[in-house]
Amino acid sequence: MNSARLHHFAQEFGVPDDFFLCRQVLEYEEAEQLVTAATNADGREHRLSPEAAKAWKEMHAAALNSGISLFIVSAFRSVQRQAELIRRKLAAGQSITEVLSVSALPGCSEHHTGNAVDVGTAGYALLETEFEQSPAFAWLTDNAASFGFYLSFPRGNPYGYNFEPWHWCYRKG
Ligand SMILES: [Zn+2]
Repeated sequence: MNSARLHHFAQEFGVPDDFFLCRQVLEYEEAEQLVTAATNADGREHRLSPEAAKAWKEMHAAALNSGISLFIVSAFRSVQRQAELIRRKLAAGQSITEVLSVSALPGCSEHHTGNAVDVGTAGYALLETEFEQSPAFAWLTDNAASFGFYLSFPRGNPYGYNFEPWHWCYRKG
C-alpha cells in the first residue's frame, strides 16, 4: 500500500489485508487540466485531459468514417466520486471483494488521470463483456493504438480486474 490516502480508504471499506498481496495496485494523480471531450444527448459532459480529448475526437471521427459508432460512457472521475460509487455499492449489499473485482479503490482508477475512457457502441449493452463481440471492439483492436489508446484490462490482467473490453486508456508517446 503506497499512501496514507489509500490506507484510509482500505480501512473505511474493510479491504482484507491479503488484497494488497494478491493484486498489483497502482495509484494515480487526479488530472490537473480537463476539457470537454464529448457531450451526451442528455447534456452530460465527459471530461478528459486535453491530449486525450484531442486523440479521442480524432479516433471518434475516424471510426465514424468507417461506419463505426463510438461514444463515451465514462471519462474523468475524481477520487471522491470513486469513493462515493464504492460506498453506494457497499450500502446496496455488495461485498468489498465483489466491488473490487470491477471497481478500483479511490486513488487507483485510471479514470482519475483524465486519460481513460469507457467506450460504448450502438446496439450493445454498456459496460458488459458483450462489447467484445461488437464491430466497435474489432475496430478499436485494429486502430486504437494509432491514436494512442490501449486496452488496460485484458483477460488475466495482473491488476485483478475482470476483463474490460470497453476500457481504453490514452498513453502519451
Ligand atoms: Zn473504465
